[in-house]
Amino acid sequence: MTGLSDSFQRPINYLRISVTDRCNLRCVYCMPAEGVPLMSHEDILTYEEIHTIARAAAELGINKVRLTGGEPLVRSGLGELIQMLKQIDGIDDISLTTNGTLLSRYAAELKQAGLQRVNVSLDTLKPDKFSLITRGNLVLDDVLAGIEAARSVGLNPVKLNMVVISSINDDELLDFVVKTIDEGWHVRFIEFMPVGGVNPSESHFIAVNEMRKRIEVLGELQPCLPSVGNGPAKYFRFSNAKGTIGFITPVSEHFCFHCNRLRLTADGRLRLCLLAEDEIDLRQSLRSGASLTELKQLIEAAVADKPLRHHLAEGLTSGDRPMTQVGG
Ligand code: SAM
Repeated sequence: MTGLSDSFQRPINYLRISVTDRCNLRCVYCMPAEGVPLMSHEDILTYEEIHTIARAAAELGINKVRLTGGEPLVRSGLGELIQMLKQIDGIDDISLTTNGTLLSRYAAELKQAGLQRVNVSLDTLKPDKFSLITRGNLVLDDVLAGIEAARSVGLNPVKLNMVVISSINDDELLDFVVKTIDEGWHVRFIEFMPVGGVNPSESHFIAVNEMRKRIEVLGELQPCLPSVGNGPAKYFRFSNAKGTIGFITPVSEHFCFHCNRLRLTADGRLRLCLLAEDEIDLRQSLRSGASLTELKQLIEAAVADKPLRHHLAEGLTSGDRPMTQVGG
């Protein structure tokens, strides 16, 4: 097998890069109400450092990168980073995950810089519930404007990620589904995971099987060809819909055996699994003068230790760093 692979022969070609741990929202499923301790500026990788690590990763076989956070758009100059990543030989897909609040301001610049696609987190279509979930004073209209801006500059397909939480937003499942039929939206429903100290009570968790049951009151879902997405979501559509419905089941049916990803945290740790604490400190090596060859050796050695799977289904939570630090 060519390229990078782990000890279970899984090809590893995807790197999610967290560019900041800061976020302008405080979503109830992502962060405790009081927020989380922030990294200092010196702790956070510079764009040059991110570029060097991405180059080492690309030489090993990484060809897809996704920028995330925290909220990636709160870090200034993201377009410059995208331009730098775009020039790396071997990287042919650059995407972004964002809460969308600042997207209308930056969509055109990011597209111009080389960004290809964007995923936007959108958990509700109701303004008052948006405030409740995000615990902030930013508004739903900004996110909707961001989605429109992304579409109009061609950051397509724009995928919308909804974390479905019982008694909070599960009453809106069908509203989102109707958008896939009437407006061609691509929506992905995600199970609420216990990560970084945010633990859903059983009464808040809702499994994809239950979501499907509620959605299928509208008719039978048709499976889409696997080519619709190449990540963990399984895609369906209603026969009269232009858009698609994806389901992501990290808890009820893990997809670890197909995991192709690594994560780079904002403070320069290479993390092998969102839900396992194993990390290696690439920042320290980089700042102590490691060469590109040495970085590649560190990455290869870490990948060899990538765990086979997480253990959420057995009730073990990931306990440590919050999503904003790991990079969701
Ligand atoms: N700020 C960006 C955003 O909102 O998309 C990127 C970071 S955010 C941590 C990345 C993704 O993680 C979002 O789609 C969010 O909904 C998801 N997420 C955060 N906490 C989660 C949880 N407890 N369970 C499931 N998904 C979660």
